[in-house]
Amino acid sequence: MILYPFITLFLLLSPSSEEVEIITSEESAYLSDLYKELHQNPEISLQEAETSERIAQELEIVGFEVSRNFGGFGVVGILKNGDGPTILYRTDMDALPMPEKTDLPYASTKTADGANGTTGIMHSCGHDMHMTSWVGTARYMAANKGQWSGTLMFIGQPAEEIGQGAKMMLDAGLYETFGVPDYGIGLHCHPTIPAGQIGISDGYTMANAEMVDIIVKGVGSHGASPHMSIDPVVVASMIVMDLQTIVSRNLKPTESAVVTIGAIKGGTKHNIISDQVTLQLTLRTYKPEVREMVHRRIREISRGVAIAAGLPKDLMPEVIIPDVYTPANFNNTELTNHIIAVSKESIGDNNVVHAEPQMLGEDFARYGSTEHKVPTVLYWLGTVPDERLGMENLPGLHSPFYYPNIDKSLKTAIKVNSEVMIGLME
Ligand SMILES: [Zn+2]
Ligand SMILES: [Zn+2]
Repeated sequence: MILYPFITLFLLLSPSSEEVEIITSEESAYLSDLYKELHQNPEISLQEAETSERIAQELEIVGFEVSRNFGGFGVVGILKNGDGPTILYRTDMDALPMPEKTDLPYASTKTADGANGTTGIMHSCGHDMHMTSWVGTARYMAANKGQWSGTLMFIGQPAEEIGQGAKMMLDAGLYETFGVPDYGIGLHCHPTIPAGQIGISDGYTMANAEMVDIIVKGVGSHGASPHMSIDPVVVASMIVMDLQTIVSRNLKPTESAVVTIGAIKGGTKHNIISDQVTLQLTLRTYKPEVREMVHRRIREISRGVAIAAGLPKDLMPEVIIPDVYTPANFNNTELTNHIIAVSKESIGDNNVVHAEPQMLGEDFARYGSTEHKVPTVLYWLGTVPDERLGMENLPGLHSPFYYPNIDKSLKTAIKVNSEVMIGLME
């Protein structure tokens, strides 16, 4: 842990460590402008052409060697500064296809009825804040090379929202081309933690996230002649109810899993018994053995209900579980403890909060899930603006009303990131 002399001085003078400045007001204004520019010009997954070019330029300005279009629109910036560990720091770049409703003066220019499309595009998941923090950290690290020794691997990842970007960059040979990092860090904006704070915990923090389809077959007939049918709507309904018992009856009570049936699709008209119903599920788990158990029970329940309904062998339900899914995020304990210790000194004990694990999916998990077992941590950056503190029902991520406090969030991220990195590379 490094405490710079000027920070110590501020700590002594300042009543609250939140007010400790790590960057000048000019630097802060520069980054705030960059944030607004990115926010106003969002691009959706797999279309991050201008965004990636913009942040690639920012890294080049401060001396990083930059590779573009690495795994889609992926950006890899390398800054070598003597011997020492390599630290990967990832930002994502994509926005969401939805209209912004914040009424901010710097709201997205891609509105629902504008020239750029019909749905509108918005950075409602805070990836613009992730990018600006990433650029700000790069600028700080490049300006303070005397304090660290090692290699920075800053990556700009496309297509996080569709769970593909990390895989695209790893499949393109990220580690083979640029080396296997010793550590990996990333952050994500948090919609209910106040700006000025971070949230963190070790172990599983985000879930295996996967989409499963069940195609339930039946024997169709006239709605008034149910005795001539095997009604797939009824079979599917029974499957839906029985699936509820996986979490309540099959899962060890101290473990976690989610089985949500998000969609049921079947039938065409009031008086027709159809011959097929499709169920669309999202599954969330942490541990591999729990994931396997959930898969097994989905197959057993679907088949068992179909047999009980009298369906013949060739009309058994099809359970489709794709091979590709977002793996669970596991925060390495040692690296988590390092980040907690550094941030407590850096932004104050009260500003480092324990963040509850979630069942969301985040493909950052992939960087630590390869055979190399890179220790990684994804932490939460508090973003709630002062004017929204105490507000009930704060807008969540992906809400058209979500927006972060720019200045405080940025400074907190840059301070934590750079001190965490310097602490690993002294
Ligand atoms: Zn998102
Ligand atoms: Zn996100």
